[in-house]
Amino acid sequence: MSKKLLILPGDGIGPEVMAVVRRVIDWMDKRRGVSFDVEEGLVGGASIDAHGVPVTDEVVEKALAADAVLLGAVGGPKWDNLDFARKPERGLLRLRKDLELFANLRPAMCFDALVDASTLKPELVRGLDIMIVRELTGGVYFGEPRGIEDLGNGIRRGINTQVYTTPEIIRVARVAFELAGKRGGRLTSVEKANVMESGVLWREEVSKLGAEEYPDIALDHMYADNCAMQLVRAPKQFDVIVTDNLFGDILSDAAAMLTGSLGMLPSASLGAEENGRRRALYEPVHGSAPDIAGQDKANPMATLLSFSMALRYSFDLGGEADLIEGAVEDVLAAGLRTADIQEPGKPAVTTTAMADALIAALDKRTA
Ligand code: NAD
Repeated sequence: MSKKLLILPGDGIGPEVMAVVRRVIDWMDKRRGVSFDVEEGLVGGASIDAHGVPVTDEVVEKALAADAVLLGAVGGPKWDNLDFARKPERGLLRLRKDLELFANLRPAMCFDALVDASTLKPELVRGLDIMIVRELTGGVYFGEPRGIEDLGNGIRRGINTQVYTTPEIIRVARVAFELAGKRGGRLTSVEKANVMESGVLWREEVSKLGAEEYPDIALDHMYADNCAMQLVRAPKQFDVIVTDNLFGDILSDAAAMLTGSLGMLPSASLGAEENGRRRALYEPVHGSAPDIAGQDKANPMATLLSFSMALRYSFDLGGEADLIEGAVEDVLAAGLRTADIQEPGKPAVTTTAMADALIAALDKRTA
């Protein structure tokens, strides 16, 4: 089976952290006999500089043809003053739209060595491993009508519409049920059915799908406000959470911070399955970090863990993903830290040093 991977490093620290993934890909080729058909392309400011647009049709075509896309980050001060339609972020939005990526997967995992980096007590986060599945293409961010109306007499009205259809709910719930089946077998569906009709529909459709197709998954329902509280009170009670675009946006950021740093957080966005292949884009949660770009300071873990998610979900290489996650754990346990996860009184290492240590840890684990 050919494994087509499109790499889009983007801007700022994007190329630096992606270089670390390229080293791991080369290592897998040489040491594990696992090779990818890798292509690279431009996105964001890098594409604007070369082609005048934040992503070209050619790159979008390549993304559609790939088994997985791995993206670094886009944006930076150089392009801040462009019109909204030409900004680097539009490249990413176009990719998400053209690939119809409707399910956003945000794991919140706490590596043992980083337990103290969380703002919560160690016992609450040690061993934490939850997955938030956020609906990404519907809901209040896209619903019509929307806008700001002038009602006269100095009064204006801002409108957004929360709207979900049955197929939109079912397709994202299905992704979440499938994931729960591969993890702890538990799914929590989150909405506000107490005050929103779209929430009532969400709850009914998820319950029906669960009863008909996933009877072995333990499904429960929770209101979004309670879920926010439970995430900081006792986050380990969750396995997989599925929720809409707005609540998912907020809850996934709250869950992310349980684990310490932006530099550690991967994500995946999945689209429809066609001919046994699901469109997918993997990217770190962080941005292009212009304040540290070009200084060999960036933490490459979030991007490497995004690649490891690609191995697991797009290439069915769970064993290789385990190996990478194990190497990340080893490097952290050995005390190596980039500045973003630095411990008080201890030195920070460079991106390059972190990459060297990762490769050494991979060697050791497979010796
Ligand atoms: P950011 O995530 O780039 O940076 C926030 C802070 O976290 C900075 O201090 C940065 O140095 C630090 N940081 C982020 N990633 C890190 C890493 N891997 N290692 C070490 N430190 C890290 O967010 P921002 O500063 O708000 O945005 C900067 C640019 O990135 C903007 O142009 C923004 O539009 C863009 N952005 C892009 C994406 C994306 O590509 N998906 C997401 C968010 C922001």
